[in-house]
Amino acid sequence: MAQSNKRDYYEVLGVDKTATQDQIKSAYRKLAKKYHPDNKETGDAEKFKEATEAYSVLSDENKRKTYDQFGFSAFDQASGGQNPFSGSGFEGFNFGSDDFGDINDILSRMFGGAFGGTRSSSRTAGPRRGDDTLMRIKINFMDAINGKTVPITINYDEQCASCKGTGAKNGTDYQTCPHCNGRGRVVKQTQTFFGTMQTETTCPYCGGTGKIINTKCPDCGGKGYKRVKKEKEINIPAGIQSGQQIRIQGMGERGSNGGPNGDLYIEVIVAEHNLFKREGNDIHITIPLDFIDAVLGNTISVPTVYGDVNLKIPAGTQPNQIFRLKDKGVKNLRGNDYGDEYVHIDLKIPTKLNKNQKQALEAYKEATSSDDSFFTRFSKGFKK
Ligand SMILES: [Zn+2]
Ligand SMILES: [Zn+2]
Repeated sequence: MAQSNKRDYYEVLGVDKTATQDQIKSAYRKLAKKYHPDNKETGDAEKFKEATEAYSVLSDENKRKTYDQFGFSAFDQASGGQNPFSGSGFEGFNFGSDDFGDINDILSRMFGGAFGGTRSSSRTAGPRRGDDTLMRIKINFMDAINGKTVPITINYDEQCASCKGTGAKNGTDYQTCPHCNGRGRVVKQTQTFFGTMQTETTCPYCGGTGKIINTKCPDCGGKGYKRVKKEKEINIPAGIQSGQQIRIQGMGERGSNGGPNGDLYIEVIVAEHNLFKREGNDIHITIPLDFIDAVLGNTISVPTVYGDVNLKIPAGTQPNQIFRLKDKGVKNLRGNDYGDEYVHIDLKIPTKLNKNQKQALEAYKEATSSDDSFFTRFSKGFKK
């Protein structure tokens, strides 16, 4: 569900945002060795996949630039970005390419045999991580700019601590399923018109776990998990954009066979503001300006997301002119720099004048020679 949303790629590889390609490559190499599923001690398919994805983006300067600029949402199809992993997912990576050639070598030497080959079907049924889940919360515009702590309630299945998710008393009171020899899958032979067909199905005796429980865990009744309700404070960082997600580790769907839970992703939806429009980290606002202030100039008080600031309107300001208030935009989610606020001028011409205003403007007209009129100049130029 939340497949297109990941932990920050730099965080995954443990490198700085300014890391060189060499540093990125070397960081990935270390993680790939550590988490490769064939590594019996520290193998972790999910972490391996996560690192590989991070590497595939950060090792490509174009993708990296897009990611730096737009973050997670750049590759999120829901927000219109392109997903570099669309369709194929992890399986789509070509480890035979030049980029991965040396990594293949390293991994082959470490683990022996071909890297990325099919898994041996004699392997016993192992723990499986649960799926990720997605939850949405809506926050208001200002909270996205200033950051906020939001309390949420999460219901999820927590792995039973007494049996470590196995469902067996003390986590040990089980035996290997004799029907599938712990594989969790059995091969079924069926006679068909075309001959004997072999199909592999989940072992009906152990339900695919590869284990038969002797005594059920008394704490969870043999289920291996408990439904829990947790109140949690979610820190929403200042600068978050609508559609970005926050990852809560281990609070997604339960794993099976003692595998860990998936993660919970919280998608943050930011409400619109009636005055401010946000574009990236910049803020846009349109303010009405009296024509006389545009003609003579003035200093006006303009709202920003951090409170009102004075803006000097120079004499001779034009309709649709835009002023920039530096650093009055949104804080960069991954840095200490700020966007700007752009003040758009909506020049207002009065439709009603009182007697004094009318007199004053007629006096202005009299004081203006026809040579100074923009329209007269235009007409003269036109007739030439
Ligand atoms: Zn238990
Ligand atoms: Zn079995």
